Amino acid sequence: MRLSGITPSGHPQLGNHLGAVRRWASDGRPDDLYFVSDLHAMTTSHDPNRLRARTSEMLAVLVASGIPVERVFVQSDLARELGALTWVLECTCSYGEAARMVQFREKGSGQGGVRLSLLTYPVLMAADILLQGADEVPVGEDQNQHVELARALARRFNGTYGEVFAVPRAVLPATGARVRDLADPTRKMSKSARDAAGVVFVLDEPDLIRRKVRRAVTDGCTGVAYAPAERPGVANLLEILAGCLGGRPADLAEGFGSYGALKEAVADAVIEELRPIRERTRALLADPGELARIRREGAARAAERGEHRLGSAMRLIGAG
Ligand code: ATP
Ligand code: MG
Repeated sequence: MRLSGITPSGHPQLGNHLGAVRRWASDGRPDDLYFVSDLHAMTTSHDPNRLRARTSEMLAVLVASGIPVERVFVQSDLARELGALTWVLECTCSYGEAARMVQFREKGSGQGGVRLSLLTYPVLMAADILLQGADEVPVGEDQNQHVELARALARRFNGTYGEVFAVPRAVLPATGARVRDLADPTRKMSKSARDAAGVVFVLDEPDLIRRKVRRAVTDGCTGVAYAPAERPGVANLLEILAGCLGGRPADLAEGFGSYGALKEAVADAVIEELRPIRERTRALLADPGELARIRREGAARAAERGEHRLGSAMRLIGAG
């Protein structure tokens, strides 16, 4: 089975939709699981109320995007199970292994006040994966090393104490378009970007989407052509258009005589792509009882699925 998470570190954006969530909804197999990884959003300074609100919003967007409610849950609802398994896995992991993680070295080194969880969160991520018995974990390049750690810990635990865990592997997403920031096409679009001017959020209203697309950075060339290296801004718009409508960016380019016409077409396509998701998300957020029910049932199912693995791991390691 596959397991994938999304961290509520900001509002979901178009890249999350085209590059991940849309595919989770369309390709998911019946026993796959997708979760809102709110515990992972606490490794750097955070605001509790904002985190809570973004977690609900992200869960609503996953469901509104078409992921069946049987396949979603919120990570913190399994805090007991994950906390216990994280401890077991921390007792399986060496300090050096955790400290080697590139993300920790990049974000955590040399600064004061770094949270210990920034060092240990890859072990929590291993617990997310191993608790559910996931054998495939779709991740971006930046998370590959963390899945490797989960793999090493599963092997080590199984070899030392007894066979409990499936050994997971990272699957890189099938050449998903990398959506770039509209205001700076050298960067990818991100939900936690400091400057949101070039970020289209899934819940943006249509006229805001149109304004952001109209202001997208292009270049001084004339005529629309697909040349990612030389004309990244225009290429990004064509890739977004292809992501929404299908077809190949280079073919789509031929239909436009000017950047203005291209931008109107991109705005229309993005607005129509996101409209049903925005509307369904708003409806869910307006019905907190329904969202709470989805959350409760998702938590119960996910906890039950992992229960026997946690129990076996505890027994084998000498606890209980
Ligand atoms: P953050 O800024 O917190 O890292 P993010 O927008 O990069 O947020 P992630 O939580 O890192 O989002 O990733 C969630 C999923 O969305 C991953 O599968 C990732 O590959 C995908 N994704 C994120 N940004 C893009 C993008 N610009 N284009 C395509 N896919 C993306
Ligand atoms: Mg990211």
